[in-house]
This record gives sequence, structure tokens and C-alpha cells, in this order.
Amino acid sequence: MQSRLYGILQGVESGTRLSADDALDVYLNAPLDALQRAAQAMRERHTPGQRASFLVDRNVNYTNVCITDCKFCEFYRPVGHAESYVLSREVMSAKLDELAAIGGSRVLLQGGHNPSLRLEWYLDLFRWMRARWPQLEIDALSPSEIEHVALLESMTTATVLQHMAQAGLGGVPGGGAEILDDTVRDVVSPKKTRTADWLRIMGEAQALGLYTSASQVFGLGETPQQRINALLAVRAHQDMALREHSLGFMAFVAWPLQFESRYGAVFGQGKGWELGSDGAGYLRHIAFCRVLLDNIPHFQASWPTMGLEVARDALHYGCDDMGGLMMEENVVSQAGSVHCNVTEEQMRAAIRQAGYEPVKRDSWYRLLQSTS
Ligand code: SF4
Repeated sequence: MQSRLYGILQGVESGTRLSADDALDVYLNAPLDALQRAAQAMRERHTPGQRASFLVDRNVNYTNVCITDCKFCEFYRPVGHAESYVLSREVMSAKLDELAAIGGSRVLLQGGHNPSLRLEWYLDLFRWMRARWPQLEIDALSPSEIEHVALLESMTTATVLQHMAQAGLGGVPGGGAEILDDTVRDVVSPKKTRTADWLRIMGEAQALGLYTSASQVFGLGETPQQRINALLAVRAHQDMALREHSLGFMAFVAWPLQFESRYGAVFGQGKGWELGSDGAGYLRHIAFCRVLLDNIPHFQASWPTMGLEVARDALHYGCDDMGGLMMEENVVSQAGSVHCNVTEEQMRAAIRQAGYEPVKRDSWYRLLQSTS
């Protein structure tokens, strides 16, 4: 059995696609050294050389009001809650000035499904940002936020995206994917975008030439096969997007559920489901994802959830990028992560410790400079 799995992974190293039929066996049983070698071969195929990239960006969570009640979410507050907020222009302005001052190139705007924020609010915001900080790419919302705005406006998601792109939206990050398998979504986020709709909206963004990425949050209590189903859905979409739009997901990132008490109480270990992941489980998972998703160019290590040391190790398990500095991350920090502050120097040092040359990039993975 082990020799069969070594053979399959040697095939991946020489360019054979991992089949859906073999995926579960490889995920569960492949020797780690063979999985790691295949993941690194895939990394080298897409990003040759000894460089690892990162981005100087800022996460701005523009509102925490949400009506979608995902079971794992500690970030949101219901309408009217004493701790609910929508950031003012004054507050946003200060945040974006700070980002511009450290040479940032991208702002990541993400928030809840706030019924009081209509399409025009987003269009005004994007126009204002483009006018005042033209150097900052705006990667904003997620398929589920786009769908929410479309429902409020009785518009199609494609029309919402067209308006937003005209107002300055540059990309749609892959938030809200969690596990793209509706049998899981029915349990953990029953009011959130369905798998087919998440992928369709990303296809609409790709058709408009917008930046997109794919993601997976695992350890929500799903089975290994459900994780794989979600990855296969992303791979099939990417095949279509590259064929039809010549532009698909630029990157993939995965991270485990961050433990916190409420989710544990609702879906706790008492039911026999595996929640979250330790560092070793994360590294094996990301290596498998790199092997299976042979058509996505870049893989980000998730330092905000795993910490810099594990993320640094992930550069040897198929990742070629450390993602953004993410000044002021609120969502995973409120779900229990303690890894939410990294300077550019710390990022560069971590990449060097892994044996790679740190390079700064923009949203589109264009290199901005190498070592400082
Ligand atoms: S994960 Fe997003 S959509 Fe779900 S409750 Fe939290 S803010 Fe709302």
C-alpha cells in the first residue's frame, strides 16, 4: 500500500494530476516525506527559485454587524447590539494613512452582512479610497458579502460586481469559503452562500478581470472526504476559469478553525468531530492541498492563525508566499488566535530563516522589490 502511494506521489512530481479516486487515500495514508516532496515539486513548478513573497497590507473590518449567524464566528454582532459598529470615514482615513506611511500596497476590506449598508455606500467608499490613496489596491468583501448586497438591491451579483469594479474594486478575496461542501455548510453556516453560488460569484469576478483567491477553513467538524470534495470543487472551477476567462484564482490559503469556547460547546469534541488542527496537522493539510490544487499558482502560509514559526515551515510544504502583514486583523484574533502582529522585518527574518529570499509583492504577485 505504501509503495502504491509513493508511486502516485512520484507521478505528481512528474506532472500527473492527483485523481479524485486516489485523493482520500493520499490524504489519510501517504507518507509525509513523499507528500512533502510532491508539494515542493508543485511549488517549484509554479514558482521556481529560492524566493518567498509577502505583501504589506492592512485588514480593515469596516463593520461587525451581521445577520448570518455562522456558528463558528466570534467576530460579528447582531443589529442593534451595544458593541456593533460601522467605521467612520475619519477612522478609515487614519488607518489608510498609516498603511500608506509604511509603503502598503493593498487594503483588505471585510465585514459582516450589514443590512443598513447599501450598494451606494460601498461605491462611495471605493471612489473615495481610489481618489485619496491611488497606490492602494482595494481587495474587498467576499462572495457572501457580494451576494448579501445583491439581495438587498434585488440585483444580480454580476451587476453588483460591475458597479463595484467601476468604482475601484480591484479584487475579491476568498473569504467565506470555509468548507465548500453544502452538507457541511448546512451545519456550520446554514444562512451563508452555497457552494455553487460562491464559485459562480468568483467566476463573475474573474470574468471582469478582478483578482480572486480561494481559501479553506478546516477542522469545523467535517470529514476528510468533505474537505477533499471542497478542494475538488475549487480545482474544477479553476480549470473552467482558466479556460473561459484566462484568469482564475491567483492564490490559495487554508487555516484551521481557531478554538474558542462557544463553538466547542455547540459542536464539541464530545461528538467525535475533529476541531481545528495543530501545527503538524496543518502542514500535512497544506502539503496535500498544494498537491491536489495543481492549477493554482500561489499558496499562502497562514501566519495569523498558525504563528510565524509554523508558517515559516509551511514554505517547505508547498507554500511560496507568507500573505500580508495584515495590520490590525480582527476576525481570527477574536476567534482565539494570538498571532496577529508582525512587522516587515519580522516577516523578512522568518523567510530568511526558512532559507528563502524575502520579496515584497503586490496583490497580483508582481514583485515590488527584493531584500531591503
Ligand atoms: S463569518 Fe462572516 S457571514 Fe458568518 S457570522 Fe461572521 S461575519 Fe457574518
